Amino acid sequence: TSARASFVAAHPEAATWSDRARRVQPGGNTRSVLHVDPFPIRVDRAEGKHLWDLDGHRYVDLLGNYTAGLLGHSPEPVLAAARAALESGWSLGAVHENEVRLAELIVERFPSLDQVRFTNSGTEANMMALAVATHHTGRRKVVVFRNGYHGGVLTFGAEPSPVTVPHDWVLCDFNDLDSVSAAFAEHGVEIAAVLVEPMQGSGGCIPGTPAFLAGLRSLCDDHGALLVFDEVMTSRFSTGGAQQLLGVQPDMTTLGKYLAGGLTFGAFGGRADVMANFDPAAGGTLAHAGTFNNNVASMAAGVAALTEVLSPELLDEVHARGERLRVRLNEAFAAAGLPMCATGVGSLMNVHGTAGPVGTAADLADQDDRLRELFYFHCLANGYYIARRGLIALSIEITDDDIDQFLDVVGSFGTDD
Ligand code: PLP
Repeated sequence: TSARASFVAAHPEAATWSDRARRVQPGGNTRSVLHVDPFPIRVDRAEGKHLWDLDGHRYVDLLGNYTAGLLGHSPEPVLAAARAALESGWSLGAVHENEVRLAELIVERFPSLDQVRFTNSGTEANMMALAVATHHTGRRKVVVFRNGYHGGVLTFGAEPSPVTVPHDWVLCDFNDLDSVSAAFAEHGVEIAAVLVEPMQGSGGCIPGTPAFLAGLRSLCDDHGALLVFDEVMTSRFSTGGAQQLLGVQPDMTTLGKYLAGGLTFGAFGGRADVMANFDPAAGGTLAHAGTFNNNVASMAAGVAALTEVLSPELLDEVHARGERLRVRLNEAFAAAGLPMCATGVGSLMNVHGTAGPVGTAADLADQDDRLRELFYFHCLANGYYIARRGLIALSIEITDDDIDQFLDVVGSFGTDD
């Protein structure tokens, strides 16, 4: 109560704007993930690694727009490229050069992608991947995992959420290959695809084990189903994403978030014979349209991000920095005797209200949400922005000094709240 009361006292402008927002936006926002009780901070400026809110507070941004902000705020090469693109006109209604360049760059980075198409979001990318997988195989069922997230309308808890786009879903348990073997034993010839996050991201940064993910590859091979990796979050794990680290080649991959330098983006791609369904010259009968699929700002920003900013070395650096932070967070929680832990891979991690270990969603069932919420308000009060649910996603702007200072703040959790 006192953490929340201090928060309210320090954010009068945010309170006023939230009242205004609630009149015209259900829940006071247009992204459910941004809901906070009593109300969220309202940010009106960002630069480098910092955010400023309407109430005059500055935060180190440790959330990076839920992983889309890997490059930090307004990196100069990306800003210049987007600006140049806009100055040449932005509603062309025609194909242009940068969409080809960006497609070439992505296909080069991900060997399992022979071809790629762009969307406006990761959600759409997954919807299109499933559309082509069912069409290509002539099968109807799709294996997905409890606690999985593939977009606002592709959300799975113990069951699909009430607004999940209907498919003939077969729900299995993440990191439990037996549950998938059983599904194939029962429905084998009807399963079009297995859609899986190599690390369950929104579900709490729970990594898939190498044996589980390689096992999915074998099961799909044995039964003629397509393996679809949702790498919307995990593509930052290396230049070639989680699949490169794992050595597992999916048939289809979906992408999003940071790959257009932080602008609107999604993509799906994979095997040439599957993607040929979109090629009229190859007899393909599927359409995939979208007024903004090749919007000039995202395409230009993506090219600049991948050619001028995100070198393989930089990706490795942010990955290693994240690994160090996660280890030190767990040390700090243990030293303070707090029933908390952090899970994740590289620069993506989630703080949980349980001492762990956390290997599956079931391990989170009894976590203390209040502790996690207090941790969130503690971070905000000390100038660090993370997700209310505990997600931390480092950008390339975050330094080792920032990490040290953040760990001091973590160390004081519980002593001053
Ligand atoms: N898939 C995964 C694994 C995600 O984490 C997300 C977003 O968080 C999505 C898909 C949806 O992407 P978008 O928010 O761009 O629709």
